[in-house]
Amino acid sequence: MRKAMYDAEVGDDGRTDKLGRGEDPSVNNLEDVAAEVMGKEAALFCNSGTMANLISLLTHGTRGDNVLAGETCHINKSEKAPFMENIGGLIPRFFETDVFGAPDMDSIHQLMNDYEIKLLCLENTNNFMGGTCLSKEQMNTLCNVAHENGIPVHLDGARIFNASVYYDIPVKKLVKPADSVMFSLSKGLGAPMGSVLCGQKAFITRARKIRKLLGGSMRQSGVVAATGITAIQQEVDRLKEDHENAYLLAGMIKDNAKINIRMDAVQTNIVNVDVSSSGRSAKTIESDLLNKGLKVKSISDYKVRITTYRGVTRDDIIRAATIINAYFREC
Ligand SMILES: *Cc1c(COP(=O)(O)O)cnc(C)c1O
Repeated sequence: MRKAMYDAEVGDDGRTDKLGRGEDPSVNNLEDVAAEVMGKEAALFCNSGTMANLISLLTHGTRGDNVLAGETCHINKSEKAPFMENIGGLIPRFFETDVFGAPDMDSIHQLMNDYEIKLLCLENTNNFMGGTCLSKEQMNTLCNVAHENGIPVHLDGARIFNASVYYDIPVKKLVKPADSVMFSLSKGLGAPMGSVLCGQKAFITRARKIRKLLGGSMRQSGVVAATGITAIQQEVDRLKEDHENAYLLAGMIKDNAKINIRMDAVQTNIVNVDVSSSGRSAKTIESDLLNKGLKVKSISDYKVRITTYRGVTRDDIIRAATIINAYFREC
């Protein structure tokens, strides 16, 4: 990736030609590669997943529009801006979800009856539920229901490649029924920064204007975009190491009486640990483990999240499990 950055040809991505493309050849290459791999007509390079989701939602809808989403989805929990009254002004209508974060169909039907819905948001893999996946069949069923009611679908696919590796199917098959999809280059795929929003040409042309309004047009961004191409072309298969490491870690710590892990939810690179039986808060555990050399993240009062990525080896996992088991034995 450092080499790709060094070699990247660059230009002004914010200045567009007659076809609406920017002038940075490396960004254009990345957008073409991303559109191709996602099976969509066009793509837009964005500086973060948060911005790509915001751009997408503001392109799909406008202030006052009702949007179907999961209450625990990343857009609601972490990004917030699309649903903030003084920023995006979209109104979230939360459907119910199961323990894997999968949307409940009855709840979606009910909300479609109660409100005029303008957009359905899905998330795959589901961040806060622990990297759990929606299958191709689930994606198809959910998107069909939306489309039958004239509602487009935005997929927050920050970690969609983890789902495609989990099911061992090409990512384009998984995202086919979604009208727009966002994915991250800088998480498991290891690029220094950036996300890509993909969709139909007309949608991306409108999204490009919103990106400019939000300050997301960049110059010489090809130095970063070049790493995104490397990420897509060379880093996807490696994700299965992260999945194996996460499953190995979960298996090594799950029998500890002070914690609880749903093994059937450990599908990709995230392990959610329920620490409610430990007598300590997730925040305390986060700082205690940090003192012992292990970085985990508290995501609620009683839930700790552990994530694997390319910088974490199998040996690290074994050390992490030793630290965790020793710690909870003392609890
Ligand atoms: C990380 C993440 C995002 C946001 O991406 P950033 O690049 O951190 O802004 C959005 N959605 C999901 C599901 C994520 O996991």
